[in-house]
Amino acid sequence: GSLDEFTDQLPTVGAVLLVTASYNGTPTDDAKEFMAWIEGSDQDLSAVNFAVFGVGNRDWATTYQRIPRMIEERLLALGATQVAERGEADARGDFFGDIDRYTQRVWPELTQALGLEAAAPEDLGERFAIDWVGGDRLDATLRDYHDLSEMQILVNDEMVDTSSEYGDSKRHLRIALPEGVRYKTGDHLLVMPQNSEDLVRRVAQRFDIDLAASLRLTQKHGVAGALPVDQVVSVQTLLSQFLELGDPATVRQVKLLAEHATCPPDVEKLLALAEPDRYQPQVLALRVSMLDLLERYPSIELSFAAFIDQLADLHPRYYSIASSHLSSPDAVDIAVSLVSGPALSGQGEYLGACSSTLAGRRSGESVLARVRPVDSGFVPPTDLTQPIIMIGPGTGVAPFRGFVQDRLAHQADGKTLGDALLFFGCRHPSVDQLYAQEFAQAESAGAVRCINAYSRMDGHPFRYVQDAVTAHAEQVWSLWEQGALIYVCGDAQNMLMGVRRALEQIYVDAHPDQSISAEQAKTWLSSMEVEGRFLIDAWG
Ligand code: FAD
Repeated sequence: GSLDEFTDQLPTVGAVLLVTASYNGTPTDDAKEFMAWIEGSDQDLSAVNFAVFGVGNRDWATTYQRIPRMIEERLLALGATQVAERGEADARGDFFGDIDRYTQRVWPELTQALGLEAAAPEDLGERFAIDWVGGDRLDATLRDYHDLSEMQILVNDEMVDTSSEYGDSKRHLRIALPEGVRYKTGDHLLVMPQNSEDLVRRVAQRFDIDLAASLRLTQKHGVAGALPVDQVVSVQTLLSQFLELGDPATVRQVKLLAEHATCPPDVEKLLALAEPDRYQPQVLALRVSMLDLLERYPSIELSFAAFIDQLADLHPRYYSIASSHLSSPDAVDIAVSLVSGPALSGQGEYLGACSSTLAGRRSGESVLARVRPVDSGFVPPTDLTQPIIMIGPGTGVAPFRGFVQDRLAHQADGKTLGDALLFFGCRHPSVDQLYAQEFAQAESAGAVRCINAYSRMDGHPFRYVQDAVTAHAEQVWSLWEQGALIYVCGDAQNMLMGVRRALEQIYVDAHPDQSISAEQAKTWLSSMEVEGRFLIDAWG
């Protein structure tokens, strides 16, 4: 069950295993009531036995595992007994491996703590049985499972000069909202992807099945997730709409493939790949999928049922809405970076599932999507006179286009606005400067001041947004002292770290008499994040 279902109702018989994540240090939507309860409760929970497993991403260093840790601390403080050590999975690292390792250790720990006899888990076989049947029918389980609606694409334009050697495609999409659906500036759009035709064809070829064939999945045990159980679906539909085909193989999956390889040298090679020193650099880092390995080692004899049993459900992806509800209430804009290039695995081309789905849809066609209200505070300030500093290179500029449209609408209403500074970064002004004209017009209208960084323009003073922030330290600090909010959006890995460092250095330099250490500056920025003055909407 979700954590909210157990608010004030933790079982006191047996053990409770709490599996939870942090989103920018806040609880997931279905754990908010539970967190409010546990933080405020002084109830005696001494009859509760518990263990916690936390999911996170180390790129969000200051809030990594925050919620799982808080739950652990609160339960201990209320007298509950911890019956297994807290586990962690890091989405930046070997995520599924972390889960496998935890799963292996937690059952013996639990059985020991509860004085039970350890039993080897029963091998239940695959979750599904497959009946091959005639006919073909599309199904609607995805919509119900993820609460999605069909949304029509109104505009789908290329924003980048893709003929340039560094012009990677970025699409501007305008998507009509169904009747009654509303959004707020800063919200996200969740979009359901489809796997590329090429990827789907490769699976059919490897298992020698006809894409037009139809089948029915019958659930034998376990959790069906969003899979279309007890319905007739074509192989094409099942593979393109329901399963993550591109995920890197986990250690457990590599071992499973080794078990099914019929040629001893293949078994040996696969088992070697499952060893940590090889798995990390040769499978995880190169994102080698189960399909890649199945193609590489033709002696593997794995059934189609066993293959799909191993795959995660295809899940919707997030996009920052790039329009304002004030000026565009009935349709949302998004800016999508197409993920494509030679596959790191060395096997074929890699196409991001959702970005390629979106890039390929023409106006008039539709996608399954849902508006997801933002709850991290990443919204324009309610006090319009509060200054804002926005930092968003590439498609990270998306939400700020919405913020600036908001400001133009307020200006037109005669409202007084605080200062707004936008740091944007791209490769070259003539190649990929997104929404350049619109921002220039907004700047002339006094709604924003734009500072650009260009990573491939010889002689330009700033390569990356963080360089531009550093070069404008005085303005940044002066706005900060006037109560500015700082927003950062885009690539979580390199850009976010660079921006953090630039802001920390500005803080150090603003206090020359206090010899502030790098560590103290870090603590300051983290506390500003917790206070909601430094706001992040970043993705890996
Ligand atoms: P996937 O199929 O999910 O593939 C992506 C994975 O493939 C990544 O792990 C990547 O490292 C890996 N990969 C990349 N290249 C290769 C290669 N050559 N070989 C092997 N593996 C490779 N994106 C936007 O474009 N615009 C936005 O406004 C936006 N807003 C977001 C807001 C939030 C809150 C979040 C969490 C994400 C946002 N994203 C945005 C990212 C977006 O959700 C998707 O992650 C992105 O579009 C890629 O999804 P995909 O399905 O196309 O790729």
